[in-house]
Amino acid sequence: MKLIFVTGGVVSSLGKGIVTASLAALLRSRGVNLKIRKLDPYLNVDPGTMSPYQHGEVFVTDDGSETDLDLGHYERFTDINCSKNDSISSGKIYSSVIDKERKGLYLGSTVQVIPHITDEIKSSVKLNVKDNEVVICEIGGTVGDIESLPFLEAIRQFKNEKPEDTLLIHLTLLPYLESSGELKTKPTQHSVKELLNSGIQPDVIVCRSSKKISDNELAKISLFCNVSKQSVIPSYDVPSIYKVPSLLSKSKLDEIVIKKLKIKTPKKLDLKIWKNFELLESIAKEELQILIIGKYIDLKDSYKSLYEAIYHAGVHNKVVVKINWIDSETINSKTAKILLKNANGILIPGGFGGRGIKGKIEAIKFARENNIPFLGICLGMQLAIIEYCRNVLKMKNVGSSEFGKFKTNVVSLMTEWKNKKLLVKRNEKADLGGSMRLGSYPCFISKNTLAYKIYKTNKINERHRHRYEVNPKIKSTIEKKGMKFSGISKDKNLLEIVENTNHPWFLAVQFHPELKSKPFKPHPIFLSFIKSSHNKSNEQKN
Ligand code: GLN
Repeated sequence: MKLIFVTGGVVSSLGKGIVTASLAALLRSRGVNLKIRKLDPYLNVDPGTMSPYQHGEVFVTDDGSETDLDLGHYERFTDINCSKNDSISSGKIYSSVIDKERKGLYLGSTVQVIPHITDEIKSSVKLNVKDNEVVICEIGGTVGDIESLPFLEAIRQFKNEKPEDTLLIHLTLLPYLESSGELKTKPTQHSVKELLNSGIQPDVIVCRSSKKISDNELAKISLFCNVSKQSVIPSYDVPSIYKVPSLLSKSKLDEIVIKKLKIKTPKKLDLKIWKNFELLESIAKEELQILIIGKYIDLKDSYKSLYEAIYHAGVHNKVVVKINWIDSETINSKTAKILLKNANGILIPGGFGGRGIKGKIEAIKFARENNIPFLGICLGMQLAIIEYCRNVLKMKNVGSSEFGKFKTNVVSLMTEWKNKKLLVKRNEKADLGGSMRLGSYPCFISKNTLAYKIYKTNKINERHRHRYEVNPKIKSTIEKKGMKFSGISKDKNLLEIVENTNHPWFLAVQFHPELKSKPFKPHPIFLSFIKSSHNKSNEQKN
């Protein structure tokens, strides 16, 4: 087993996740068996309970764990599916140690950070790793944070036990000073000093920079930070994250890692998929505008995978997709015409809670009535159903038990639809904790539908993260006037895909297709959505 740790210094948001994912992609292309793990210093057991404002998107894996958004990058860059074992937070470590302590498993010893917490970190890092596997672990946060100390201590121990099998990559920033026209290496030196305080010497330093790093500067970092010059790797700013694997390979990051750890590589480096994607990126010229109607409009990271999925689909359709976020609270029946009129496609993403619901429903109505391609995801599908019931079927007082009291809840908790009638009552005491449908579920697609045209198969697996479901008792009522449930669970109780057969492209899904899109394997739903939005834009131009 070979272990690679990636830490970050100087400032946060340097793109440690992308560097980690890119290195993994380069090793993977050489046929190396890999696991990629994220070690996060925060005390939440998992990011599931954290606000997207603070922590960005919660990425859901096939096995249904709610993990850090960096795992999304790992999957997108490598096509390796992550699991619950690949997201390790201090909270998870501490809760497991305290659990063992309560069970008396420490046999009377005083439970301490060293060795108990560090041992737990070490076993989590090694969990289920096979002999010939390489594990790349990204450490969240920035070196110097109090919270990351136990992780650094665990790395020190690994290095002490197996120096030849453990490698530490430290990512830093070389700030450029406009006034003196220089790149500064001092913050990097300080950051390495900080690591040395914890007893670790980095083996490789990756330097993020907006300007070309001169030979002199590389030599200076090598001298002051005690690493060989070829182990100081430049990582320049690039317009697309998908250029980073080839960039880092040009800087020979993969070669140095392979050499230092003596990793066996069954295949030669193959950058074909990245070169192809870069080529497509350079071809895309024509612009089209997708409007996303949402709540967390200020922070792009809250919908990381969604952005990436749209980007992949845009590049493969050879168009530049401009994403415009519209705050759903600004939309009403009057403003909709003005705010949404230039949309080539409208998307309502996943979301929680009742804020801004009215505006989202108004936007769906606008898309439906004006034949604008519409994609609803999770909450977006639930609202598409509600919109249809209210405005087409003219049902009175219908909604979702998530955000209010309605006579008819067409969307509700599964526990609520045990009730025989469609008119389920809101269950105020329903448990919200641990009640989500999480992870991958199969879905069966009917032939002669848009969904079938998109997937070209009758069975798919997609990932979920929601509590509420469309009530299956509404199915026949809704299907009378042209809405069709084209994707459904095996037992026919869970309605997973709905489409409007009276509309050129109107599809809504209960799952999150964005979680499975890759740059070299764009998700078929997004491909098709962008394609029809492109057609719409051509139509609008003529
Ligand atoms: N809030 C809705 C639910 O819990 C939708 C969740 C989502 O969009 N991810 O069912």
